[in-house]
Amino acid sequence: MIRVYLEVYGCQMNEDDASRLTTILEQGGCMLAESPELADVVLLHTCSVREKPEQRVYAFANRMQWLKRKNPGLVLGIGGCVAKQEGRALLERFWGIDFLFDSYSLHKIPELLRAVRESSSHVAMNTMLMDQPEDFDESLFPCNNKTHGPTAFLTIMQGCDHKCSFCIVPHVRGPEVSRSSRAILMHARRLVGQGVRELVLLGQNVNRYGKHTQDITFPELLRELDRIPGLERIRFTTSNPTDADDSLVECFASLRTVCPHLHLPVQSGSDRILGLMRRGYTRKDYLAIVERLRQARPDIALTTDLIVGFPTETDEDFQSTLRLVEEVGFDSSFSFKYSKRPLTEAEKMEGQVSKEVKEERLAILQDVTQRIAQKSLLKAIGSSQEVLVEKPSKMSKEEVMGRTLHNKAVVFFGNQSLVGKIVPVLIIEALRHTLRGQLDG
Ligand code: SF4
Repeated sequence: MIRVYLEVYGCQMNEDDASRLTTILEQGGCMLAESPELADVVLLHTCSVREKPEQRVYAFANRMQWLKRKNPGLVLGIGGCVAKQEGRALLERFWGIDFLFDSYSLHKIPELLRAVRESSSHVAMNTMLMDQPEDFDESLFPCNNKTHGPTAFLTIMQGCDHKCSFCIVPHVRGPEVSRSSRAILMHARRLVGQGVRELVLLGQNVNRYGKHTQDITFPELLRELDRIPGLERIRFTTSNPTDADDSLVECFASLRTVCPHLHLPVQSGSDRILGLMRRGYTRKDYLAIVERLRQARPDIALTTDLIVGFPTETDEDFQSTLRLVEEVGFDSSFSFKYSKRPLTEAEKMEGQVSKEVKEERLAILQDVTQRIAQKSLLKAIGSSQEVLVEKPSKMSKEEVMGRTLHNKAVVFFGNQSLVGKIVPVLIIEALRHTLRGQLDG
């Protein structure tokens, strides 16, 4: 049995890749090791969307090289966005790497591991790096008999045909590829049969699901999923505002399972910066979508991504972002300092903003977003919320943690038998990022 240690960095799509890779490895005769020191093979699934996670990848790869000096039989594989971005350069930079893989090649890894272990030289998987299929191979989504928690990720598409000037995703995940609706629906039914009550549909831009195939559209897919008995909640991420049309908005009003929560990355509140970012919408367009969403579902929770310090961003641009954040009143947001990404248009732009200014703007923005998010948590006090209980709380054995329809985390006294159930919870307190409640009734 090959013992594999798997280290994962990055987004929910990487987490989902890693979870499927675990099943693929187990079904391919491997077992998971608890640490690199106890493994025959170390696999690192990487992220390069920002500079910081990419640096962590290099630090880990470096550490694995040292381990390999002590244990020359160790096989090291690097996958995901950094592998795709760097290609052969990565093999040249770190002598200890045996192979590279991408997210379309996960199902080929067990066979490759056997081949690499039998080989005396480093084996680079260039053919896999260049792999850009037009369809998903369904072997990438293996069945397993494990019981799931109440919430599961479900990848429906990947890649992106947009070319936002700051974003490396189209270069590393490639153009859009959608799974067939038939495969997605079968997968969803299987997960529900295994105890899942909430699905989180994943893709770089889910709103463009099915655009290149003769298959159904994303709103139609939501309607089909909505009919699955036993499925209680659907969420999805990520949505580019340009592709959030009226048929999507309508789903929030009419579908039983679609949660009143949307993550809609705005990135900036300045039209000039949005133009340079090549986002394809203006501030006015974004606010119009927000208004349509709120008409369709007045209680909808909106969350977003924001970038500060994009090249040439002035104080005035930054103030526009602050005003937009106040105007929309996001329930929560992820904000980042712009970092240069290789292969992107913005990398070469003049007018890069200094580190100090980016740090200052990020601190100001995060103060504002935190204040607004806190207001939204405080508003929930005194209300009774339907909470899907996900797991025991990390802080106390006597408490459990779950999420409201609006994706707010709630902790309350309760035992493990509640996990997987949807229960009414009276909200009694707002903490910094979560709510505290008690079983209602
Ligand atoms: S839509 Fe999203 S994934 Fe696509 S290029 Fe823009 S930021 Fe990147």
